[in-house]
Amino acid sequence: MQADYVIVGAGSAGCCLANRLTEDPNSHVVLIEAGGRDWNPLIHIPAGYMKLLEHPTLTWGFKAEADPGTNGRAINYPRGRVLGGSSSINGMIYVRGQPEDFDHWAQQGNRGWSWDDVLPYFRKAENWAGTADAVHAKGGPLFTSHGRDKPLLCRAAVEAATQLGCVYRDDVNDLAEGHGDGVGWVQQTRGGRLRASAARSYLRPALKRPNLRVVTGALVHRVLFDGTRAIGVEYSRNGKTERVDAAGEVILSAGAIGSPHILQLSGVGDPDHLERIGVTAHHALRGVGKNLQDHYLARVSCRIQGAPSLNQQSRGLGLAGQVLRYVAVGNGILTYAASLVAASVKVLPESATPDVQALFAHGSYAPGVSRQLDTVPGMTCGMWQMRPLSHGHVEARTPRAQDAPNINPRYFSDPTDCRAAIGGMRWIRRLFAAPALAKYVVVENAPGNDVQSDDELLHYVKQTGGTVFHATCTCKMGRDLLAVVDDRLRVHGLQALRVIDASVMPAVTSTNTNAPTIMIAEKGAALVREDARMALAA
Ligand SMILES: Cc1cc2nc3c(=O)[nH]c(=O)nc-3n(C[C@H](O)[C@H](O)[C@H](O)COP(=O)(O)OP(=O)(O)OC[C@H]3O[C@@H](n4cnc5c(N)ncnc54)[C@H](O)[C@@H]3O)c2cc1C
Repeated sequence: MQADYVIVGAGSAGCCLANRLTEDPNSHVVLIEAGGRDWNPLIHIPAGYMKLLEHPTLTWGFKAEADPGTNGRAINYPRGRVLGGSSSINGMIYVRGQPEDFDHWAQQGNRGWSWDDVLPYFRKAENWAGTADAVHAKGGPLFTSHGRDKPLLCRAAVEAATQLGCVYRDDVNDLAEGHGDGVGWVQQTRGGRLRASAARSYLRPALKRPNLRVVTGALVHRVLFDGTRAIGVEYSRNGKTERVDAAGEVILSAGAIGSPHILQLSGVGDPDHLERIGVTAHHALRGVGKNLQDHYLARVSCRIQGAPSLNQQSRGLGLAGQVLRYVAVGNGILTYAASLVAASVKVLPESATPDVQALFAHGSYAPGVSRQLDTVPGMTCGMWQMRPLSHGHVEARTPRAQDAPNINPRYFSDPTDCRAAIGGMRWIRRLFAAPALAKYVVVENAPGNDVQSDDELLHYVKQTGGTVFHATCTCKMGRDLLAVVDDRLRVHGLQALRVIDASVMPAVTSTNTNAPTIMIAEKGAALVREDARMALAA
C-alpha cells in the first residue's frame, strides 16, 4: 500500500488531518487506527461517556505507574481506541484555555503559536450554534454550543461564585488577556442530540473522497526509515505484519501516549532508555516521552436538600423521564457534558491569571474516582491546577508495540502543585459556604469535616483524585534540548516525519485539551500543505 501521507491514529488530531489533507484531490492519504469503528451508541449519546471510561475495547486500558503523588495508587489512565480516539469517549467540554497559554508557547520561540496566531484555527474548526463573532465561527466541521439546560443548583453555583468575587462570563471562551477570576456555563462539542467527536465532525464527511483510505484494527509498530527520511510505517492487522509507504510524509497523531511510544519503538528517543529496552537507536532525541503533563482532579462533595440533583434524575422513574425528554425534545441530562459550570480562580498569590479550574456538577459520586452516582441527593465540585510544574514520562517497557508503556505524570512532584491543590480545595469549600449554595448543604460528604489541615487536605487529594485525561507535551514543540518537534511540527533531525497531536504542546493549556488539539491539527494541516506547495514550487 502506498500514499502521499500516512497518518497514524484517527483521534482528535488524526481525523482533522485526514479531512484537511484530502481536500486536495491530488493528495492520497492512508489513516491507520488501532481501534475499530465508532458504532457503539454510547459514544454518540453525550451522557454515554460515563460508561466508556473503562470500556474493554474502546479504550487502551492503561494504568499510570504507582507513584507517591497518588499515595502509591496505580490509577486508571483512559485513552480512546476507536475512530475519533479520545474525542469519542471524552466529557465533551469545549473550553479553549487562556490567551496567555498560547502566548507562552510563542515566547518559548515557537513562531506562529501566539493567541492571535491560533485563534483563526480555533474558528476554522468551529460550527458554533450561536451567532458568529470575533471568537466563534460558523461553517466549520466541529459543532460547538452552549448546554441546553440551566439546572437550579448550577445556577446557584454560578451565583455563589460571583458572591466570592468571580465575574460572570457569558462566554467562557472569550477571555481578555490578563483576565481575573470568572465563572460561566461550559460549552460543548455537541451537535443536536449527538456528540461531535472528531470522527463524526471531520472523518465522516471525508470518507466519501476517493483519495482517503482508513485502515482500522491496525496497530502501528514503528516508523520505517531510509537514512534519516521516514518512508512509511509497519503495522499488524489480523495477526499479519504489513507496511504502508509514504511518498510524502508520515504524520504521527497517536496522542500523548501513542506518539512517543511509536517513536521510541522506531529507535527515536533517549539512547540510554532505548538500550535498556533492547531497541536499536536510530536517532537520538532525548525529549521523546519526557515532559508528560496532565491535570489532576480532586473533588469536594456535599449531601444536599431542596433542589433536584443528578443522583435522582439518573435513576428509576427519573431516568425514564429523562430518556423520553431526550428522544422528544433533545435536552435533559442525556445531553450533558462532564460538567455544566466552570469557575477559573487564582489561589496562588504569585499567579498573574487564574491558576485553578473548578467544575461544578449537581450530582455527587461515591468516594474516590469512581463514576458511580450517590443514591442520596448531592452536588460536587472538582478542581485542577491549571499549569502544573510537575513533569512525568511515557517510556516503552519492551520493544513490542503490544506492551503498554510506563506512564507516570509524577503528580505533585513539584511543591507548588501541592499548594495549588490545597488552595483549590479550600476555594471549593468557600463556594459551598457562599449564601447561594449554603442553603442547600446538609453535610460535606467528602473530604468531610475531619479533614482540615493542609497536610490532611493534600493526603485526601492524593488518595482520592485522578487524571482529568489531559495528557500532553510528550513530544513537545520547541528549540531546547528536550524539544522533539520544531514549530512546523517536524521531528528534529529527521525528514518527512511530523508529530501532530496533543503531545506537541510545549506546556499543557490551562483548561481542557480537545479544542487546542483540534486547533493544532488544523494549523498542522495548513503547515503540511504549505510545505508541499513550497516543495513543488522549488
Ligand atoms: C475520558 C476522557 C475525557 C476527556 N474529557 C475531555 C473534555 O471534556 N474536554 C476536552 O477538551 N478534553 C477532554 N479530554 C481530552 C481530549 O479528548 C484529548 O486531549 C484529545 O482527544 C487528544 O487528541 P489526540 O489526537 O492527541 O489523541 P487521541 O484522540 O487519543 O487519538 C489518538 C489515536 O491514536 C490511536 N493510536 C494510538 N497508538 C496507536 C498505534 N500504535 N497504532 C495505531 N493507532 C494508534 C488511538 O487509538 C487513538 O484513536 C478527555 C480525554 C479522555 C480520555
